[in-house]
Amino acid sequence: MRLVAIIVVLLGLAAGCAPVVNPATGELQYTSMTPTEEARVGREEHPRVMAQFGGAYADRALQTYVARIGNKLVAVSELADLDFTFTVLDSEIVNAFALPGGYVYVTRGLLALADDEAELAGVLAHEIGHVTARHTAQRYDRAQLGNLGAGVATILGGILLGDVGAQLGQQVGGLGAAAYVQAYSREQEFEADQLGVRYLSRAGYDPQAMASFLDKLRAKDELVRAGRRERSGVPSFLASHPRAADRVARAAREAGGGTGRVGRDAYLAAIDGLVYGSSPAQGFVRGRTFEHPELRVRFTAPEGFELLNTPARVIGRDRSGRLLLFDMGKAPRGADLAAYLQRDWLREQRVRDLEHLDVAGNPAAFASGVVTVNGRTAPALFGVVRGGGDAVWRFVLVNPRGLGADDLSLLLATMRSVENLSAAEAARLKPERIVIVTVAPGDTIDSLAARMNVKDRPRETFMLLNGLNGRPLRPGEKVKLVR
Ligand SMILES: [Zn+2]
Repeated sequence: MRLVAIIVVLLGLAAGCAPVVNPATGELQYTSMTPTEEARVGREEHPRVMAQFGGAYADRALQTYVARIGNKLVAVSELADLDFTFTVLDSEIVNAFALPGGYVYVTRGLLALADDEAELAGVLAHEIGHVTARHTAQRYDRAQLGNLGAGVATILGGILLGDVGAQLGQQVGGLGAAAYVQAYSREQEFEADQLGVRYLSRAGYDPQAMASFLDKLRAKDELVRAGRRERSGVPSFLASHPRAADRVARAAREAGGGTGRVGRDAYLAAIDGLVYGSSPAQGFVRGRTFEHPELRVRFTAPEGFELLNTPARVIGRDRSGRLLLFDMGKAPRGADLAAYLQRDWLREQRVRDLEHLDVAGNPAAFASGVVTVNGRTAPALFGVVRGGGDAVWRFVLVNPRGLGADDLSLLLATMRSVENLSAAEAARLKPERIVIVTVAPGDTIDSLAARMNVKDRPRETFMLLNGLNGRPLRPGEKVKLVR
């Protein structure tokens, strides 16, 4: 969850289908967008993508490093004159994508996984390929034809909160940019691979890096599937890039496959200290507890709930299908919370049992009503608790099978667990980071994995992060640890 206003941009597109020469392939293509319109769409959608995918990662040096590699690749592309914008997103999900007009995004989750500069360059080159081949523009046309809606529906795993406060609904609506991370066609992927390999070798990078990184993505996918599921709702890079590594390898061979720059040391130095997993700007899910050092809040969900942190809210589910939603609103200090709940949050939607209460010394209020889940109306309880400053912590407990007495006690227990963190407590909440160390003689995969701050499968995670599947450790080489 992040303290970011989700900006919903409505785009009125002037339709009209003049053929446009594809700068990368020379073909004539039909898309309703001219390059000028592409630039405008990219500019307008950029803030929306930033809000949806966690914003820019706050590390100027790393942003500059990635942009420098990206611009080196752009310089050898067919759109060398186009001003590209490269952004490292503050998201742990492994992903990369592009918008029309030259906006290319890569997540810090992807940076943690890549092992050298050539692998990162391969991802950037591929995304640049989607822009130069005008796939982003073509897909944007398709998105206008209805895919946007589909993207919205899948994001929250099918939860659509109809009228539950326009704010909640609007935030869900803001996720429409997901259309951009939906799959391209196989032909477009192959074309982006070929262009990517072309830019890689022209820029002097090892073109084989694209294939090696694809292997890593596959391994990561398997690890995630074997362990706890990464249920972000947002398609992962692999899901949106269903390519076969062998096809990429073939493209690399066809490109002449010279051995170019790999840049492992430079890359590892650039990502030393990179935040791994959740960041303080988004808050941390630890078991059933959610802690947000910047919003200064902590709460614990009832037994049996599994929490998922998304940019807009924290979502909990239990086995019986109950949902618990948590987010933040604002009301001036001293404002009546029952009035806030009814008027500001739920926008006059009919509620029952509206009551004031006091939880652990904090003013609070709750009410019952209905929400729409997967197109069906479900009964729900709404609770608000006064936070620090003008913050109001908001909970929704949904039980599609009907509300019982225990639902109210679950909601109240959750509200009672809310703590406003002191500055000192907040300062103690630190993210995990990638730390680069040199392998000493006698170090083993197990001894290094034991130094990782990872509870779930540390050995497999260590091997994955360092591309060690099928190759031994070498003393003197640098490796990534999570600390
Ligand atoms: Zn792609």
